[in-house]
Amino acid sequence: MPSSCVVDIDTAPFKGSIKLNTGLFIDGQWVDPVDKEMIDVINPSTGKTISQVSLGSSKDVDIAVKAAKQAYKTSWGLKCPGATRGRLLTRLADLIERDIDEFAALEALNAGKPFHIAKGKDMAGVIKCIRYFGGWADKIQGNTIETSEQKLAYTRHEPYGVVGQIIPWNFPMLMLSWKVGPALATGNCIVFKPSEMTPLSALKFADLVKEAGFPPGVVNLVNGYGTTVGQAISEHMDISKVAFTGSTLVGRKVLEASARTNLKVVTLELGGKSPTIIFDDCNLEQTIKWASMAIYANMGQSCIAGSRIFVQEGIYPQFMEKFTAVVQALGRATGDPFSSTTQHGPQVSKVQFDRIMGYIESGKASGATVHLGGARHGTEGFFIQPTIFTDCTPDMKIVKEEIFGPVAAILKFTTEEEVIEAANATVYGLSSCVFSENLSRALRVAHAIESGSMFVNSGPTVDSAVPFGGFKQSGMGREHGEYALATYTQVKGVHVNLGMMI
Ligand code: NAD
Repeated sequence: MPSSCVVDIDTAPFKGSIKLNTGLFIDGQWVDPVDKEMIDVINPSTGKTISQVSLGSSKDVDIAVKAAKQAYKTSWGLKCPGATRGRLLTRLADLIERDIDEFAALEALNAGKPFHIAKGKDMAGVIKCIRYFGGWADKIQGNTIETSEQKLAYTRHEPYGVVGQIIPWNFPMLMLSWKVGPALATGNCIVFKPSEMTPLSALKFADLVKEAGFPPGVVNLVNGYGTTVGQAISEHMDISKVAFTGSTLVGRKVLEASARTNLKVVTLELGGKSPTIIFDDCNLEQTIKWASMAIYANMGQSCIAGSRIFVQEGIYPQFMEKFTAVVQALGRATGDPFSSTTQHGPQVSKVQFDRIMGYIESGKASGATVHLGGARHGTEGFFIQPTIFTDCTPDMKIVKEEIFGPVAAILKFTTEEEVIEAANATVYGLSSCVFSENLSRALRVAHAIESGSMFVNSGPTVDSAVPFGGFKQSGMGREHGEYALATYTQVKGVHVNLGMMI
């Protein structure tokens, strides 16, 4: 009998028991991993173990790929009409909505997200994303192409077959929805690996895949470490495409694994060091709230975190005074993710906590000033105070490298040309924000910045309908919108002879 657990939560606003199957979900069934290994899942608010879940290996990936291949051949892919796929995705979104409180509670418990944010932002985004791609499932069309009167030519956008999907821990359900939505809409079968640190919500999701009525083998979930399960997915000869979200370092390894094996198509959503550019003529009250959200949302553990804040010199003193007050208030709202007043929870793990504290020490050592925060919050769990560094220079590690924590580096600038050059002086190019009431200038800057997303007079508010992805070393390929469909389909050109003689 594959393992299961019951997670009891007795804190308002969620009181109840959540039963989870903790095995691997393969071919529509819960199974034990071949090697029968387990891994502890940790609550980052306390550092204590919540439960244990199964830990897969390359042997389990093999079994999952076989199940996915069989499902693709018999009941999914070209065998299943788009309208049916769309109806299943819509049903899945409805079931997630029905259980939204349980999902939000699991995200709060396992990833440390404030419950009300996990429910109102993350899970709302998940439901929207799956519904959005459900709507696309019966609208995937090719073109007819005029060549000569003696030929009919047209294109078909066909699925890859079996796709591998690997995600990080920072938005466990949101990243999952960005991956499975377009893959299923376009008719692919999936072998999915959540982060080994935050598997709980994905386990609940797999139960709903079954309840929604997806054929067995269409969605397979293999929890495990990156160096075993992740690598096995990246190297597998029967996986035709891998979609990866995570660090640039590991993204490179996924690409190398593809090059070494079957040249599978790889799409990568990687790291960032995003600029927030604030001109003198911005709406200061609004700008400050957005700039704070841009860096501190999700405790700074966001690939689009606006971690470099460029402030024009004329507004610098007012900005610093008001920004500091907003961040101090956020610091006071740090604590138990299940409290309705909490805005800022713990970092996801001890490893991340230590890594971020290392960056804070490096900032101090390199001559930057800790204007606010810079220390642990409380005595238990992995909480770090929202932190502001001033007196930053471009050569500092805290300005150049992705910290993935609640740490903002403030940089002063004078001219538009200067800030464009400074903002672009990074290997990353994922997301940027610009604030100015002069729309001509804001758009000039938006076009000059090298990044895949640009937010004008707003923090990064990603939307299922708008393409998302990186320039430079922030990735390749796009998620969201119609563009995501192209990354899950391969185009076939069909030539029909209407009378041409040889
Ligand atoms: P990570 O790269 O360490 O891990 C990501 C996933 O890859 C995990 O599931 C991990 O188990 C797996 N993995 C590890 N080694 C592997 C290997 N050799 N082969 C295959 N898979 C392997 O990243 P993380 O620490 O989980 O997440 C943080 C990073 O993710 C940050 O750099 C962040 O910017 C990035 N991120 C990017 C986006 C985006 O959309 N661009 C979104 C969220 C996070």
